[in-house]
Amino acid sequence: MPEFQATIISWYHQNKRNLPWRETTNPYFIWLSEIILQQTRIEQGTSYYLKFIKRFPTIKDLAQANEQEVLNLWQGLGYYSRARNLHTTAKYIYFDLKGEFPKNFAALILLKGVGVYTASAIASFAYNESKAVVDGNVYRVLSRVFNVETPIDSGIGKKEFQNLANELISSEVPNIYNQAIMEFGALHCLPANPLCEKCPLQFSCLSFAAGTIKIRPAKNKKVKISPRYFVFKIAQDAEGKIVMIKRTEKDIWQNLFQFPLFEFTSQEKKATFLQAHNFDFVSKENKHILSHQHIFATFVFQRVKKINLQQGEQKLFPSQIDDFPIPRLIEKFLEKESAQLFS
Ligand code: SF4
Repeated sequence: MPEFQATIISWYHQNKRNLPWRETTNPYFIWLSEIILQQTRIEQGTSYYLKFIKRFPTIKDLAQANEQEVLNLWQGLGYYSRARNLHTTAKYIYFDLKGEFPKNFAALILLKGVGVYTASAIASFAYNESKAVVDGNVYRVLSRVFNVETPIDSGIGKKEFQNLANELISSEVPNIYNQAIMEFGALHCLPANPLCEKCPLQFSCLSFAAGTIKIRPAKNKKVKISPRYFVFKIAQDAEGKIVMIKRTEKDIWQNLFQFPLFEFTSQEKKATFLQAHNFDFVSKENKHILSHQHIFATFVFQRVKKINLQQGEQKLFPSQIDDFPIPRLIEKFLEKESAQLFS
């Protein structure tokens, strides 16, 4: 076995975490864990994985669930398109493929919500197929060990790293090698403070020798962040009921529920709106950070005699909110304020 592979695998055997999806070769469980862990930290993702496999132990259970139940279970993880794709794909596998989970990379990559990384992960972990995974951890390790200057967010960079990863993967134990290099990136070759002083790769690490660790991996672009200014209006009628509405537009939080929303193009316009009304309660502004958007949200509350429902709105008691999937921003607000607001 070439030295790089042997070193990474030996490090892995001594340092790996015991994670529940590493105990299985069931492609359904592995797929669930991979979708949950996209853009989610392992500490947070583990409890969701356990909840999902408990509630939906087979692909049939997930396929037969309704979308609202899936979104409810997903609540708090963010990036809800992942949950919707998960559900669509479960239905496709159960109803169209007769419950047969695709058995190799070429078939896995055709599934909705499954890209090269996820298809490689399932193919190698479930079927031991020799397909190299390249996630953020692998980019970092390879860019440092081989001192690669090509930006990882360029088309050419993506190809170059995938080719390099394909050359390095073990053909005997691709599953263990893939886990090992990702784990090495996650626990040892850390983004800000890599543990170079006690690194088994230190003598072969070209970035360590060249003093370029801090600028690896190289990136081209800065992500453009758009600010959005929200006011959520909670009106409660004489019966104690409030209003919620489903977000149906193609935007963040599609198919989740929220209080009626006013959105403004600037902070000034939002402030003018708030000053022009006499609400019973106006919350502090809550800043909610998404990958490409920063949401500045204020919640206002007003008691009213009667509520005239607008299209798509529904009335419910505050105690029923738990039955609906809602964005984490609203969930956090309710955790703090609902006892006081709805007392
Ligand atoms: S020497 Fe440092 S930068 Fe190089 S692989 Fe080890 S931890 Fe990463």
